[in-house]
Amino acid sequence: MQVDELKEHISSYAVELLKERGISKLYPPQEEAVRRGLFSGRNMVIAIPTASGKTLIAELAMIHEVIRGGKCLYTVPLKALASEKYREFRKWSDIGVEVGISTGDYDSRDEWLGNADIIVTTSEKADSLVRNQAGWIRNISMLVIDEAHLIDSAKRGAVIEVLVAKLRKINPSLRILALSATIPNADEIAEWLNAELVESEWRPIPLYEGVFYPGKILKLNEGGVIEVKAGRNVESVVKETLEEGGQVLIFESTRRNAESLAEKLSSVVRDYAEDCSDLAEEVLIENEGEMSQRLARCVRYGSAFHHAGLLNYQRELIERAFRERRVKVICATPTLAAGVNLPARRVIVKGIRRYESGMGSVFIKVSEYKQMAGRAGRPGLDSYGEALIVAKTRNEAVEMMERFVLGEPEKVTSKLGSENHLRFHTLSVIAEGIANTLEGIEDFFSSTFFAYQNEFTMRWEIQRIVLQLEKWGFVRSDGTIVATEIGDLISRLYIDPLTGYIFKEAARRFDNLTEMALLHLICRTPDMELLYLRKSDEWVEEEAYAFRDELTYFPSYYSSEYDWFLREFKTALCLHDWVNERDEDVICSKYGIAPGDLRRVVETAEWLFHALERIMEHHGNGLSVEVGRLGERIRHGVREELVELVKLKWIGRKRARKLYNAGIKSLDDLVEKRSVAERLIGKRIVERVLAEHRR
Ligand code: ADP
Repeated sequence: MQVDELKEHISSYAVELLKERGISKLYPPQEEAVRRGLFSGRNMVIAIPTASGKTLIAELAMIHEVIRGGKCLYTVPLKALASEKYREFRKWSDIGVEVGISTGDYDSRDEWLGNADIIVTTSEKADSLVRNQAGWIRNISMLVIDEAHLIDSAKRGAVIEVLVAKLRKINPSLRILALSATIPNADEIAEWLNAELVESEWRPIPLYEGVFYPGKILKLNEGGVIEVKAGRNVESVVKETLEEGGQVLIFESTRRNAESLAEKLSSVVRDYAEDCSDLAEEVLIENEGEMSQRLARCVRYGSAFHHAGLLNYQRELIERAFRERRVKVICATPTLAAGVNLPARRVIVKGIRRYESGMGSVFIKVSEYKQMAGRAGRPGLDSYGEALIVAKTRNEAVEMMERFVLGEPEKVTSKLGSENHLRFHTLSVIAEGIANTLEGIEDFFSSTFFAYQNEFTMRWEIQRIVLQLEKWGFVRSDGTIVATEIGDLISRLYIDPLTGYIFKEAARRFDNLTEMALLHLICRTPDMELLYLRKSDEWVEEEAYAFRDELTYFPSYYSSEYDWFLREFKTALCLHDWVNERDEDVICSKYGIAPGDLRRVVETAEWLFHALERIMEHHGNGLSVEVGRLGERIRHGVREELVELVKLKWIGRKRARKLYNAGIKSLDDLVEKRSVAERLIGKRIVERVLAEHRR
């Protein structure tokens, strides 16, 4: 089908724009979606492989919707994906379609998005916008769920179902378009959503899968499994691809493996890559710590590693350089497969096992493997893609072939049934006034995918949760169930009710807490991501005893909670070093974390301090002022006296310290002692700061 045939649905302007993007003909699954009623107002589930054009299907549907006066919400699982989609969709502004993005603070309403026709956001942020009753939410006429198979995710899946149920309640004629990887039970998702199902295995570039073992590759071809000759090791397989002008993406199970393989491969890759010294310098722009130095050394020769310990700018840099084909090889942890779209001619899955606590080494899921394998083949560059699992022996290779290459991905199952998800969403259902009886709450949950998949009643579970929420003071129940003021606040703050309870109790009991006690308090909540304890971390216990009298909680050595407590304390101590201006690299090596981990801990802490401040305020507890100040210090990683300086753009913790020590404590001082400042932090920076703040 030619895109010209879409004029009546999306306007000739839109068709012209597609052609400018080089899209003149629809891919077969796209054509099928159109034939099956993409423009007819039906709900649809599209379950097709990666890179087979799901996003374009959504774009067509959304443009059609916008032309008819509708408003679309496009939800993705990660912030990074939201930015990627936002950049893509912004092209539509050329024909007057307003595109917005919302990924900011959880308790804001982002009312300016009222004018946007298409809004890109994460599922969590979308749910928080519903909770905070953003005025424009009721105008949403179409919901697009990207990566809908992630309903299966233990951590982030439940929110997708609840969001669907809530938006359908707000607008019963809401149209839903769910985009998913190929999964065996897409039909269930379609039936739950009352949607037309478009399923296909079609790919724009053929994908060949196989298993490598030293000297050979077992390959699955149209005719069946064949055995072909290959090199002795992974390096030789990589080399072969580079010789043919292709790029390689390698998945490892751990960060450490990804890093050392990238280092090892850089001596192979350097013969095939141009000089990337400029990129290596860029890697070090904001951080020169050990990990960044390692990354820079690899990148210089066109090899890189990619994992959650990298800083955002480093990840984006590596992704861009790979797309531009300057970086030839990326060794990544599986997080990359779930994230941005980064195809390569060859995908090598080295980490086919993963360590799980209590279970040791286990095989990854077939669906995870398929997600990685699906990244093989770059549209427009490669005539085929190839995915290879790495095995040690022929026997193992045969086993891998059967389990993964020929295996069927697991079914997607709802994760809403777990107590913490149910508790979290039950409070919001009550606070938003969606339901005010047990039957009403049950009725609400009966429209979720969980209820679709499970026949048993949720009545008892819900009753227990409501009782718990009542005990905590978040709901009142005398015939009807309503949220108390604090319950409503907690729902809007988007924190776990248990976190809310811990904060509420602290607000009630204490009017004086030290810095360390406050830091430990937020680390006691289920919303904090805790650092792990290493064998060499005995010092944590010693430090904990030194702070023993200050903390709000200190379990006995014999308590089953003791080890967990040490993790909480270690995380709090890390934040303590951060707000007391310990050097970032020193912190990273002391706690055994990477810069990206530190940023995540800091970001979560900042959010929790904001919530704690609001709850303290609500209780009229004067500690709220201190909490607010500490939150500000966490954001910037500084002592109190630098807060004013770090609020200035371009002034980070290091520059602020230099200025402060020279007696420059504010913007006025900076103006007055300009030459001193220029000597300390550079003329260009001072100029930028003044241009920004002295208009
Ligand atoms: P998915 O969302 O299914 O992973 P994308 O929508 O990102 O895949 O599509 C992958 C690439 O294919 C994108 O670069 C997109 O512009 C391109 N593409 C999609 N549809 C077409 C088409 N009909 N013709 C040419 N290129 C297309």
